[in-house]
Amino acid sequence: MEILSAVGDDAVAKVYIGRTSRGNIVEFVESIPTGNIREKWVLIVSSLNGCPVGCMMCDAGFFYMGKLRYDEIMEQIEYPLMRRFGGAPDTKKFKIQFARMGEPSFNPEVLDVIRDLGDRYENFFPSLSTVAPIGVDSFFQRLLKIKKEKYPDRFQLQFSIHSTNQEQRNRIIPIHKWDFSRIADYGMRFYDEGGLKITLNFALARENEADAKVIQKYFPSEYFLIKITPLNPTVSAQRNGLSNDVDESAGMPVKHREFVEELRSRGYDVIISIGDTRENLIGSNCGQYILRFLRERPELMNAYTFAREIKEISVLEGHPHLRGNSP
Ligand code: SF4
Repeated sequence: MEILSAVGDDAVAKVYIGRTSRGNIVEFVESIPTGNIREKWVLIVSSLNGCPVGCMMCDAGFFYMGKLRYDEIMEQIEYPLMRRFGGAPDTKKFKIQFARMGEPSFNPEVLDVIRDLGDRYENFFPSLSTVAPIGVDSFFQRLLKIKKEKYPDRFQLQFSIHSTNQEQRNRIIPIHKWDFSRIADYGMRFYDEGGLKITLNFALARENEADAKVIQKYFPSEYFLIKITPLNPTVSAQRNGLSNDVDESAGMPVKHREFVEELRSRGYDVIISIGDTRENLIGSNCGQYILRFLRERPELMNAYTFAREIKEISVLEGHPHLRGNSP
């Protein structure tokens, strides 16, 4: 892995832009969400080069150049691991999220990585976020098997839901994907007694519909929890007219406050996931993609502040979807 650029703050989060051994340009993130690296250290890695899904609020989904190979995913883990710890992660919880760039279920080599990391690091906690595309059943079957065999009590599986209105959800995530019944069925099979509940993730825009009755109709609270994240300031969210609904100082949505209260009164665990707001400035949050920002440099308030320092656009050279559009 050749590091082309690193932005951020060692104490909060850092985004790396690197060229893999096979020449793909990727972004990956390390973050210390609790402020104590001995307690928890999180890596967020890319699975694809770009993403063919094109979710409305995501800056990584405007081009797709193929799957990353096993080695290229491992390189995103090994580089920060060497830099921080000299190789062995000296932390209680070493969490790796397959969530930066690319829908992970489109890449079967992600499964080999998840399988092998558990053998290398006993403090490894896998986390995978998916929109659950149609047509990759073998990925999900194998994922289920690996989870049951190796990580019954510590696998975080997250489904991106975003809206309880299926039509609106189809616009936000514009590919063929599992409906709520199928997500519920798989999620219940994935769950293990004593393990982590399955997360239904909402990047909650004011414009999105969110109805607790729909959640209750499909997803039993014994198996599922709801996680609400603010809609991070991305180029795509701005272009698509999506606005954040979560008041970060109050730790609650504004328009969708009732959704949260109703879910809680119906027995659901609801997590309002507000990270350090500096993560937005760094560009390390979900859906953010620094190379997109560098290409377009829009006026985005409170986002990508650190990346503004990257004046040298050599990181974009050799990237057919970014080259030539830079300022
Ligand atoms: S949010 Fe995930 S699935 Fe959607 S376009 Fe971005 S990387 Fe792809």
